[in-house]
Amino acid sequence: MGSVPESVPAVRVFIAGGSYAGLSAAVNLLDLGNGLSPRMSNEPYAHHPSVPKVNFEITIADERDGYYHLIGSPLALADADYAKKAWVRFQDIPGLQLPNVKFVQGSVSSVDCAAKTATVIDGTTKEAVTHPYDYFVTATGLRRVWPVVPQALTQKQYLVEAETQIKALDNAKDGVVVVGGGAVGIEMAAELKHVKPHLKVTLVHSRDRLMSSEPLPDDCRDKALEMVKETGVEVLLDHRLASSTKVDSPDGSSKYEVQFTNGHKMTASVVIMALSNSTSTASYLPSSATDPEGYVKIVSNMSFEPNSVPNASSHFCAGDVAKWSGIKRCGAAMHGGHYIAHNIHQSVLQQQDPRHEPRFQHLQEIPPMIGLAVGKNAVAYSPDGGLSSGPEVMQAYFRDDLGWAICWEYMQLGGRKPEVKLQEAAA
Ligand SMILES: Cc1cc2nc3c(=O)[nH]c(=O)nc-3n(C[C@H](O)[C@H](O)[C@H](O)COP(=O)(O)OP(=O)(O)OC[C@H]3O[C@@H](n4cnc5c(N)ncnc54)[C@H](O)[C@@H]3O)c2cc1C
Repeated sequence: MGSVPESVPAVRVFIAGGSYAGLSAAVNLLDLGNGLSPRMSNEPYAHHPSVPKVNFEITIADERDGYYHLIGSPLALADADYAKKAWVRFQDIPGLQLPNVKFVQGSVSSVDCAAKTATVIDGTTKEAVTHPYDYFVTATGLRRVWPVVPQALTQKQYLVEAETQIKALDNAKDGVVVVGGGAVGIEMAAELKHVKPHLKVTLVHSRDRLMSSEPLPDDCRDKALEMVKETGVEVLLDHRLASSTKVDSPDGSSKYEVQFTNGHKMTASVVIMALSNSTSTASYLPSSATDPEGYVKIVSNMSFEPNSVPNASSHFCAGDVAKWSGIKRCGAAMHGGHYIAHNIHQSVLQQQDPRHEPRFQHLQEIPPMIGLAVGKNAVAYSPDGGLSSGPEVMQAYFRDDLGWAICWEYMQLGGRKPEVKLQEAAA
């Protein structure tokens, strides 16, 4: 990758959140800064003849000390080998070890959009450090509870957390109850049964169909039910949880009494709450930037809504925390990160050459679509592709590692692929 001459003024981009959306913004910005086409673009990028390169200085702040493949959670919290793979410390991501990329481990606590500064509480020292920026990217996703996602902030703590959970599951002689038959609950129950076939796994859902709150057609919900049952998971529909109480067991092992509002009772060694009670992480932004639920209000070029904050056009948001149509998905988060990089670059070109008319990428409305891993199979639905399912769908959407390699390769975190450069050279 070519380096930028030192005399070019630096453009400071501060990215809050180093996962699918944030890292996608970073890697595509690196490409654009180096005069290359963004790696996620289907078409070659026409660079400005008098601004062929931009000296981007990228700061990525994350509460975690690494990139965590969130999609892999159902497997990471069931299989120790996979758990090791699912979290890669930022310092171990080869494609991001560059002089113009800095990682800050800490929690973004406030942003002054007028002054263009972001304050981060350092994860180790707990001190507040203020970072000036030219462009700000919000990519902090949603906050989700344990054990849907690990709560640890370092790889070391996370491996302990995962191991403890895996041991508890191994010893679950009274079985495991997964509460919540949305996409996350289905994947958690199916993955658990797939990895530990000896376990009795029960998925309970309050409504008469799985994925009842996702805007999906009934045949997709029915296919998901058929496939989750095929894995050996027992499914209880129309079962709303009333209580789950820890009770004494004669041998001291973990035991819960689970009661439902329809009067049904059962016991389990482990109860996993997989209810969709995720909340926004964007409380560090001025409240004018978000809707009442905390989602960031953006326009189609992914910048903050005009006038919602000072300098709205220098503030961008992608991923789960953005207020946009569609089921929250990692593909949409990466796509959004790519568009933000493109649009920041266009905005920089305009600053450096006022005659430049920015050609922004605009996010389209996203119809409901899903790819759901269910043990050895997957179910996929989109309005264009319709419903499909089976092992070949699993291969296409997730391969054999719940999409870890697909995401890693798409973002080219191992380093930008040489063949992309060759294509450009030939073009
Ligand atoms: C169990 C599970 C299974 C899923 N399966 C699928 C699937 O099969 N397919 C699919 O497409 N999608 C799936 N999803 C959804 C997908 O994971 C999300 O859409 C995706 O993670 C969104 O990416 P993001 O970059 O916006 O946010 P995230 O991946 O949530 O990343 C946000 C990052 O910001 C950091 N952060 C948060 N707050 C702060 C702060 N204040 N300061 C600094 N850093 C902060 C976090 O530590 C995190 O690293 C699944 C989700 C879950 C929970």
